[in-house]
Amino acid sequence: MAEKRDYYEVLGVSKDATADEIKKAYRKMAVKYHPDRNPDNKEAEEKFKEAAEAYDVLSDADKRAKYDRFGHNMGPQGFGGGGGQYAYGGGMSMEDIFANFGDIFGDVFGGGRAYGGFSGATGGSPRKHVNKGTDLRITVKVTLKDIMNGVDKKLKIPRMVACEHCKGTGAKDGTAFKTCTRCQGTGYVTGVQQTMFGPQQTHRVCPECNGEGKVITESCSYCGGTGVVKKDEIVSFHIPAGVSDGDVLTLRGQGNAPRHGGVNGDLLIVIQEEKNAELIRDGVDLIYNLMLDFPTAALGGTAEVPTVEGRARLKIAAGTQPGRVLRLRGKGLPKMNSSIKGDILVNVMVYVPENLTDAEKAAVESLKDQPNIVPNESTVKRIFSRLRHIFNKENRGVE
Ligand SMILES: [Zn+2]
Ligand SMILES: [Zn+2]
Repeated sequence: MAEKRDYYEVLGVSKDATADEIKKAYRKMAVKYHPDRNPDNKEAEEKFKEAAEAYDVLSDADKRAKYDRFGHNMGPQGFGGGGGQYAYGGGMSMEDIFANFGDIFGDVFGGGRAYGGFSGATGGSPRKHVNKGTDLRITVKVTLKDIMNGVDKKLKIPRMVACEHCKGTGAKDGTAFKTCTRCQGTGYVTGVQQTMFGPQQTHRVCPECNGEGKVITESCSYCGGTGVVKKDEIVSFHIPAGVSDGDVLTLRGQGNAPRHGGVNGDLLIVIQEEKNAELIRDGVDLIYNLMLDFPTAALGGTAEVPTVEGRARLKIAAGTQPGRVLRLRGKGLPKMNSSIKGDILVNVMVYVPENLTDAEKAAVESLKDQPNIVPNESTVKRIFSRLRHIFNKENRGVE
């Protein structure tokens, strides 16, 4: 497959183009390469599809931000990489484009959402209107471990599926319907409209049969003529490593079936991150607040730190100051579609004893007189200069 062109380049706009500029640029391209103006022109069709894919991403603030960060790796729906179950696979189909962006042509092709207005790749009569089912949206909770490794999920989801008694048609036994007399079964009605390119033949969805080309004469009693029934179904999918709270994963065609047959809607999976009791997420890094006892901070030793997978031992150097941030490299979270891994940042605090016995008090009292217990001026200066978030003249403690 040829190298994918940059979406901004495809639409001929700058990286900081406004939403309006992007829309205008796409409209220009879409009109230029529209199949009605370029019948049987494979190259125009490819350009038409390429522009639609670019517009699909750049017109959506969320997808655009992801594209700016990750490039084509994101895939048109925001999750690129393996599986092919996300996104459009081999790019957008003509049906996708007209279903999603038909409105952009406005009156130029008399199109609207009725994408009967062009000849398909096979030539001949315009395509029939295709029903699309509604999208389903579910929230899935993930733990830090899931985010670390990616996770396979299997969920029971109630959704509308085609009624098996009428094969989704809504007609009794799947046969009790007749051809629509208004459109003679084609699903569209034609007319002529004056456009900026002169008179154009227009096609729109037949209002009599809603583009289905047929009318039910006796309804299926199992689904009441809708062609769909509600059913609990098991859906399996993979959540990739590195996801964040609020990310949306799109499973094409796993949503509701439409009335009277057609294309299923999508299943949108919204990622919800479960809070971890000990580790605080900061992008790919994880923060842990460590409360060290005074003897270990003074003498050195080890401390136990929680990780996503278990626990790790961290070496504590003698004279470790509160406010130091120690780093467990590579123990953080992976960045999506990348080999980059974050760290665990250990924020050191030192515990000052709160309730002392008489003996303990005496022990601390005896320390007071020792020469190395009270810091001198240069020691203080040196230590403060190494702590980024300490209050001083340059930095008022605001990070
Ligand atoms: Zn039925
Ligand atoms: Zn009709």
